[in-house]
Amino acid sequence: MKKIRKNISKVNDYYDGKRPSAHFKASCNCIGREHDQHIFLEIEPDMHNMLTSTFYYECVISSYYTNFWKRIKTAVRILFGSHVATEGEFLFDEEGLKDYIDTLDEARKKLIELRDKKNEEK
Ligand SMILES: [Zn+2]
Repeated sequence: MKKIRKNISKVNDYYDGKRPSAHFKASCNCIGREHDQHIFLEIEPDMHNMLTSTFYYECVISSYYTNFWKRIKTAVRILFGSHVATEGEFLFDEEGLKDYIDTLDEARKKLIELRDKKNEEK
């Protein structure tokens, strides 16, 4: 993993081969490391070479913010319900937001360029 901007690291990328992709990690501006976000940009050969972007981060059900009764209700929903909805937050300062946008846009351009080049070769 290589830090490329203040809050962004490149985990790896594959700009050649059948399935070009880029994988980044963005760090939240708060102190919680569990908010780190993983971002995958991929050209999907199985989906008409569409560019897809997927974002993952850990969603935490925090006992800190809920009272005991809410914790019981959440546990019951996990055990017997169909799903539990939760939300997380991801914070950037102004520079972090610009870095995020720039990183994704650069990767997007590079992957589209590769895809189009590959299509011309056909
Ligand atoms: Zn955070």
